[in-house]
Amino acid sequence: MKNNTILENKMEKIVSLCKRRGFVFPGSEIYGGLANSYEYGPVGVELKRNIQDEWWNVFVRRRSDMVGLDSSIILHPKTWEASGHVTGLVDAMVECRKCHTRTRADHLIEDYFKKKDEKISVEGKSDGDLDAIINENKIKCPTCGSFDWTPVRKFNLLFETHVGIVPEAQSKVYLRGETAQGIFVSFKNIVDSTRVALPFGVGQMGKSFRNEITKGNFIFRTLEFEQAEIEYFFNPEAVDWRKLFEVWKNDLWKFVTENLGVKKTHLRWREHGDEERSFYSARTEDLEYEFPFGFKELWGLAYRTDYDLKRHMQYSGIDLSYTDPVTGKKFLPHAIEPAVGINRLMAMVLLDSYTEDGDRIFLKLPPRLAPYKAAVFPLLKNKPELVEKARGIYEELKKDFMVVWDDRGNIGKRYYAQDEIGTPFCITVDFDTLEKGDVTVRDRDTATQERVPIDRLKEYIASRLK
Ligand code: ATP
Repeated sequence: MKNNTILENKMEKIVSLCKRRGFVFPGSEIYGGLANSYEYGPVGVELKRNIQDEWWNVFVRRRSDMVGLDSSIILHPKTWEASGHVTGLVDAMVECRKCHTRTRADHLIEDYFKKKDEKISVEGKSDGDLDAIINENKIKCPTCGSFDWTPVRKFNLLFETHVGIVPEAQSKVYLRGETAQGIFVSFKNIVDSTRVALPFGVGQMGKSFRNEITKGNFIFRTLEFEQAEIEYFFNPEAVDWRKLFEVWKNDLWKFVTENLGVKKTHLRWREHGDEERSFYSARTEDLEYEFPFGFKELWGLAYRTDYDLKRHMQYSGIDLSYTDPVTGKKFLPHAIEPAVGINRLMAMVLLDSYTEDGDRIFLKLPPRLAPYKAAVFPLLKNKPELVEKARGIYEELKKDFMVVWDDRGNIGKRYYAQDEIGTPFCITVDFDTLEKGDVTVRDRDTATQERVPIDRLKEYIASRLK
């Protein structure tokens, strides 16, 4: 219980730091807010982009077996019939007859048992099973306290909209619920237009939309989110999928622990049981992170067989098979899909890097992810010679790195502010600088200071970003 309280406090601290320092603001706040939506502020957008760049560089640019794609958010509506999302991307919901609170049945049950410090697994349970658990335990509405639920029913998570100006001629379309389907839709064009040969993967990153109506837990679950997905295509007769699955598990683990610097003890793999796994998937495992509200899915890894290509072939009537360049044999490739939300990665990175050392609070972000790589200060704001020298250093560093200028308050306050946004280096220009041509560089993690010659500053920073 004590541990739970510490974790919940940590979440509150992160949410408040994010607002105070410009990482993440509540969505549409001046209009009273919009549930499960957020705005990424000046430093938040930098952190998010750095995580996106890291993903894109590691999984697309630096690999010779991967290519990228940027498909539309609004795809032909048949895409979502073929993928099964129109009938499949549905959550089991209940509604309180008294106050009309709508909530996901699985979350209602999980929260109820969590409060009693008991564990329950509801993954893969039928609507009837969920109804039975709610009724047997007389689980009350978290909003008004009544026990008067409608039966569990399915609710589609896809956002609908319309194309066309005249109401009679409008056609219904959906905002994409995942980026992956765009990859299957463009599969043939990618194969026909590039030199890819199996095995190869296609990576795509962009906004996905889901009509999530339950508690989102900050940026963990939102209406719109930045998804990063890969379909890794292979010939099942030439490649052992079990081995390939392990290779991908290893790649994802390495990315989270090495590139994002997350502690291994906060991570675990969880395999989906038969009830939970989609019928077409031969294996699904989730990489889970220990969020303050428990171990939760961060990254899904699924072996989807040839299900998607087969379905799109059926629905479009277009042959999507691949011809082996050596044997001339035609077949449908199989795919392994690693799917992650960048915003969820960002929530994890913020939580994992949050550090308190006495009164000092700092984000121990890997320098590559930090919104600013360095902050430049003149020791005193009212000494023009210091300001001019510092300004020159700032302008020069800005050509190569994301750096920030600060001349407010005293040095202690400036360190405090930079620590809270995870700036790894603070550079101070003082009177010695004018004489000797060096500056004080203070390290975020150790709070130690060293003198570095101005002409070596770029090299100093660059070497720490590797
Ligand atoms: P959950 O069970 O948490 O709703 P899911 O199993 O529906 O997730 P997938 O469809 O496998 O999620 O999506 C792949 C990844 O996209 C997830 O692992 C997660 O990182 C991210 N993701 C999914 N839904 C959201 C959301 N509403 N907000 C933020 N990220 C999301």
